[in-house]
Amino acid sequence: MSVSATVTTSRSLLSEGNAAALAALRDALGSGATVSDRELDRMALAVDASHYLHAPDAVMRARSAADVGIAMRVAAQMNWPLTFRGGGTSLCGQALSEGLTVDARRHFRNMEVLDDGRRVRVQPGLTVTQVNTALARYGTKLGPDPASSIACTIGGMIANNSSGMTCGTTANAYRTLESMTIALPSGTVVNTADPNADDILRSHEPELVGVLERLRDTLRGDKYRADIERRYAIKNTMGYGINSFLDYDTPAKILEHLMIGSEGTLG
Ligand SMILES: Cc1cc2nc3c(=O)[nH]c(=O)nc-3n(C[C@H](O)[C@H](O)[C@H](O)COP(=O)(O)OP(=O)(O)OC[C@H]3O[C@@H](n4cnc5c(N)ncnc54)[C@H](O)[C@@H]3O)c2cc1C
Repeated sequence: MSVSATVTTSRSLLSEGNAAALAALRDALGSGATVSDRELDRMALAVDASHYLHAPDAVMRARSAADVGIAMRVAAQMNWPLTFRGGGTSLCGQALSEGLTVDARRHFRNMEVLDDGRRVRVQPGLTVTQVNTALARYGTKLGPDPASSIACTIGGMIANNSSGMTCGTTANAYRTLESMTIALPSGTVVNTADPNADDILRSHEPELVGVLERLRDTLRGDKYRADIERRYAIKNTMGYGINSFLDYDTPAKILEHLMIGSEGTLG
C-alpha cells in the first residue's frame, strides 16, 4: 500500500517581517513563555489529521489567557497569521498555520466539576474523554460526542462546533455552553460569566460591539430572519453560527455563541 500526502509548503526560513514579528512577540511576553522556531517544534505541528503539510514559522506554548491575548495583539499588529492548536484532529487543515501556531492544549488542562456533575468548568486543553471520565462518577457527560473524543480537546471541539451521532441540535456546544473566556485579536480578554462582560466589551471593544449590534438588528429584520431560522432548525455547522444574532440579545452572549464553530478566527 502506498500513502501520499499533499505537500504545500514548509518554509524553513523566516521572512524579515515574520522574524520581526517573532522578536516582538518574545519581547511582549517576557521571560518564561515558550516561543520556539526550532525545526523540531515547527515540524511537530506541521501536520494534523488532514492531508496537508504546513510548517509554522514558530510555535508558542501559551501559559494563560493573558499570553494568548498578547500573542493575538502582536500577531494582528505585525500582520502575522496565527492559528490555535488543540488535539490536531481536524480533517480540513484548520489546525495548521504558516505563521504562529499557538498551542492551547499543554498548559490548559484544569477542570472543576460543579453541581454534582450537572455543570463543569473546563480549560480548553483537556480532551472530551478526560472530561467525560471525570463526569462518569456522577452519571453525566458532555453533550457533544465527536468520534475523536479520545484525542480532540474542548477548545478544538467548540471552535469546530464538533458533534457526533447522538447530540443532535439540542445537546451540541451551542445549546450546552454556559460561558466562555475569550481572548480577542486586540488582546482584550473577557469572561462572559462576568456580570460586567458587556460593559468590559463596550469600553475595550466599542467597534466590535457596534458591529455585533448592527448585525443583530439587521438579521432580525423580515429580510433574513425566516431564512436563518429555517437553516438552523436542522443540524447546521457551516460557517459562523449566525443564529446567535437571533437567539441572544447582548454583545457578550452573541459573541460567545459566534465563537462556537469559528475555528479560532474570532478569538
Ligand atoms: C478519527 C476522527 C473522528 C472524528 N469524528 C468526528 C465526529 O464524530 N464529529 C465531528 O464533528 N468531528 C469529528 N472529527 C473531526 C475533529 O476531530 C473534531 O472537529 C475535533 O473536535 C477537533 O478538535 P481538536 O482538539 O483536535 O482541534 P484542532 O484540530 O486542534 O483545532 C480545530 C480548530 O479549532 C481551533 N482551536 C483549537 N483550540 C482552540 C482554542 N482553544 N480557541 C480557539 N480556537 C481553537 C483551531 O485553530 C482549529 O481551527 C473526527 C476526526 C478524526 C480524526
